[in-house]
Amino acid sequence: MSVSTHTYHVKGMHCASCAVVIERTLQKALGVEAVQVNYGTETATIHFDDTQTTIALLSQQIAPLGYTLRDTAKKENTVISSIKKEKEDELYEFKIKLFWVLPLAFLSVIIMGWDTLAEFAVLKGMPDVIAVFVHHLLPIMATATIFLVGKPYALGVYRFVRYGKANMDTLIGIGTCTAFVYSFILTAFENVLKKYLNVALTYYDVTIVVLAFITLGKYLEMKSKLKTGDAIEKLLHLQAKTAFVFKDGAIVETPVNAVVPDDIVMIKPGAQIPVDGVVVSGDTYVDEAMITGEPLPIHKKPGDEVIGGTINTTGTCTYRVTKVGSETMLAHIIRMVEDAENSKAPIQALADKIAGIFVPLVLVVAFMTLGVWLVVGTHYFGFNRALSFSIVSFVGVLIIACPCALGLATPTAIVVGVGKGAREGILIKDAAALQMLHKVTTVVMDKTGTITNGKPEIIAVKQFGAVSQSEIISLLASLEVRSEHPIGAAVVAYAQKNNIELKPFEQFEAFQGKGVRALINNVEYIAGNERLINDWHITYDKEAIKQEVANGQTPVLLATKHELLGVVLIADTIKANAAAAIKRLHAMGIRSIMLTGDNLTTAKYIAAQAGIDEVVADVLPEDKLLKIKELQKKGEIVAMAGDGVNDAPALAQADVGIAMSTGTDVAIESAGITLLHGDISKIVKAIRLSRYTMRGIKENLFWAFIYNTIGIPLAAGLFYPIFGIMLNPIFAGLAMALSSVSVVSNSLRLKSKQL
Ligand code: ADP
Ligand code: MG
Repeated sequence: MSVSTHTYHVKGMHCASCAVVIERTLQKALGVEAVQVNYGTETATIHFDDTQTTIALLSQQIAPLGYTLRDTAKKENTVISSIKKEKEDELYEFKIKLFWVLPLAFLSVIIMGWDTLAEFAVLKGMPDVIAVFVHHLLPIMATATIFLVGKPYALGVYRFVRYGKANMDTLIGIGTCTAFVYSFILTAFENVLKKYLNVALTYYDVTIVVLAFITLGKYLEMKSKLKTGDAIEKLLHLQAKTAFVFKDGAIVETPVNAVVPDDIVMIKPGAQIPVDGVVVSGDTYVDEAMITGEPLPIHKKPGDEVIGGTINTTGTCTYRVTKVGSETMLAHIIRMVEDAENSKAPIQALADKIAGIFVPLVLVVAFMTLGVWLVVGTHYFGFNRALSFSIVSFVGVLIIACPCALGLATPTAIVVGVGKGAREGILIKDAAALQMLHKVTTVVMDKTGTITNGKPEIIAVKQFGAVSQSEIISLLASLEVRSEHPIGAAVVAYAQKNNIELKPFEQFEAFQGKGVRALINNVEYIAGNERLINDWHITYDKEAIKQEVANGQTPVLLATKHELLGVVLIADTIKANAAAAIKRLHAMGIRSIMLTGDNLTTAKYIAAQAGIDEVVADVLPEDKLLKIKELQKKGEIVAMAGDGVNDAPALAQADVGIAMSTGTDVAIESAGITLLHGDISKIVKAIRLSRYTMRGIKENLFWAFIYNTIGIPLAAGLFYPIFGIMLNPIFAGLAMALSSVSVVSNSLRLKSKQL
């Protein structure tokens, strides 16, 4: 058995209840483990056993219901742009239909208005000639409207009858069909029926205007939905088409997909960097705003990394390609944004549940309304009036209850939020992380690489035994070659700069949060912090070391099994914007804690510079995790920011893990959010983004609910006995269109928020 997970685009989704219908149908299919359908992005994420079923088979399952699954796994530009093209075509089709339907609706409103005003003697009634003409015209107009835009709703009714599956189209279908068929019967059998009924009371105008409003609402919704998801498209546009590559001494313009790692690429002033790499020569400034949100161009000199998709400014450089194709940072970001957009925020579960039970519930309520009006109404006003009341309320309930906006509330805000994050250099792995972040009360931060630049430098070498200073560096660097820790990198760089040779080593071992160990010439050496030296029971002058670290430097001790050979003092600088970021966190009412494996003196020194509230030093990686758990037990919602292998367990444990893009892959894997450039001021922005997004979702849910909750009793005629008001189904159609449009535009407002 091999279960795999794929995300497909679903064609044919019209309403949030479609998501529920598709989810339930696929869930029952053979070989399917789990399904998640997102109406906002029109995608289905399916975990299935591919020895038992295929995408084609699954697509067949939902085909009778009017949906198709399409593979978007080949995330090439072409697939996405073809889906977009299709949507634009569909939008155009809608526009043409509206061109015909809106005038019909306008005409109906005028006729209806005239009739109503005449009834209240405000206007003179229509002259007979016109009245007769209109009487014949309305059925034709209604029939035309049904033919033009009624198909999805008629199909909804058909599927309800045939398969017993109801979605929102079914509700609208039953509503508008009832209005039409009832009126048509009155018109057709006018002569027979006029003895019993008021045959002039037809509802053609309801059919026409409701269908027109719904189509207009759909059109506006589709148009704005195209706009919510444009973040990915903007990122796709950043992909370069060609690169200037050095080949046999000449510079050749090469298509980007033919560029391979280790190619040397030349960048002209103002040109786009095609793929990721490391600068080998030249000196320039690169504008990375489009990917990292960094406003100022960034200085690039040999050894610095460049990101594909960014734009060179006035200088020039050559660089060695490190990553191409799906490995590049840009491809990674696009994948992440897509996955996050397709994921469901926990808050959506509620909306889905409601959408799921709403449709059958509404059908029941509608039929009950019909029955009650017929029975009770006949008693009070006689059958004739009761019948028209019951038809009006039945149709009104079905139309206003459509919970379309409910299904849009969460996903549209998430899509805009995730997209906005990506443009600010905040990569969000899933909607759950974005939702959680707004509740955070404490931010825990690792020191090295998170608060500090993580580019430590050796500033002093002290010898404690007979071994010379350069020998100390040589031994230390040989031990550290394999280490992924920034300290290791600093030592090795120092040795290289001073032309100190490294020695061959064996049996390398790293102790997370402590240091390293290896054999050199069959002698066992260790290098790391005091904890490591103590673990090995080596005696040394502790006071001497305490004095050395008073200025915030980290001591790295080198020892054999028997004695301490020397100490190297390492200094790291605090990130330029760290203090400002912590200040903003405090202003938002969030506590800051520094959690580090380094010694307390160094930790306190750095914490004071950054303005951090609390310091927890000398902790091992597993204790970082425990500290997070402890805070959570106290009721804190914890965000943990870190970059190292040693931070990974804590990142996973925290309510929200925030990794630095400059850090290790393990950290990025374990975190829900990654900050590009390792810029911790983005923590603040991420929290603000989360707050805005959640506020948007709550507003959306309010707007979606309010129409239904007020609308249904009003449409059912519950207020008629008390206030004498009854909702004309036409307003139900208008309210429905308005609610969807107001929800989507409220989500779009997020785009312009200043983080
Ligand atoms: P932080 O929590 O600040 O990222 P770590 O947990 O990675 O720090 O490491 C804690 C301490 O362990 C470091 O400050 C350093 O003293 C020591 N250490 C860890 N790895 C190494 C290494 N490769 N070489 C030397 N010292 C190390
Ligand atoms: Mg670290």
